[in-house]
Amino acid sequence: LLAVTPANFQEQLDVIKRRYRPMSLQQLIQSIEEKRITPYSVAVTFDDGYRDNLLYGKPVLEQYAIPATVFITCGYVGKQDALWWDELEDIFLGRRKLPPSLHLALGGDSLQWQLEEAAASSEMLTHSIGWNILDPKDPTPRHKIYRYLVQALRRLPTEQRDSMLSDLRLWAGSEPNASENNRVLSPQEIVSLTNGGLLDVGSHTLTHPVLAVLSKESQQREIRDSKVCLEEIVGRAIASFAYPYGTRADYTRETSALVKASGYQCACSNYRDIVWSRSNTFQLPRVLVRNWNGELFEKRMEEWFHG
Ligand SMILES: [Zn+2]
Repeated sequence: LLAVTPANFQEQLDVIKRRYRPMSLQQLIQSIEEKRITPYSVAVTFDDGYRDNLLYGKPVLEQYAIPATVFITCGYVGKQDALWWDELEDIFLGRRKLPPSLHLALGGDSLQWQLEEAAASSEMLTHSIGWNILDPKDPTPRHKIYRYLVQALRRLPTEQRDSMLSDLRLWAGSEPNASENNRVLSPQEIVSLTNGGLLDVGSHTLTHPVLAVLSKESQQREIRDSKVCLEEIVGRAIASFAYPYGTRADYTRETSALVKASGYQCACSNYRDIVWSRSNTFQLPRVLVRNWNGELFEKRMEEWFHG
């Protein structure tokens, strides 16, 4: 659900180039501040900072000369660790054989699941093809546990989330390492990404928490330290921020105030709307693009602009 194939991405950029006015996030912010947004403006952003943004995204963006901003989860930079949701997916939906039962203490609750035949891997492969979390049915207990834990881990403060993941890793006999495409960009790769000036980077916190559940001090650390970390890598000021997950339940007014006070010029949310000249530049709406071909993408764009 988070990835677009290079071929579809190319078709999507082709639609943007033909029918819309691509601009950088900074240009869009400037036009909001001046209260004169050019009709059909589009700013492209990527969240999380996956390495494939450099490998497959940048060449196509350059081909079309379309600017973009990549929001990086800075705590993962320079590490081999998979982003936590990718690790959870690897544990439960990968081809690994798992123990027949799972016991976990989560908050005050003691949870217990039986995996039954689904503990064996061969069954899993056929069940997982084409399945995603938007599918209301869980074909096996592994899918059911995965669905439960994605929701539960998302709301945990980072330390508890990481300790839960490390328990699961021990239980499954798995490694935290990401595949080469799935890991977050390294410092040198961030520099390569921004070389040429078409792509910019922004912060997506250190550890990708739901900021709304953290103390003011922890939020501040996530917001400020990630800015400092990126500034050391690219050698200039970082102006933009994207709230992890980004729905209105994932951050608070206090969060937005902290982002502003930390010296950012704008912040992107993740609720569906287009940008207006009255839009709050510290809660910019965004639309989520799925793995659609050009035709489907063009249709969605029309709906977003005119629906
Ligand atoms: Zn994210």
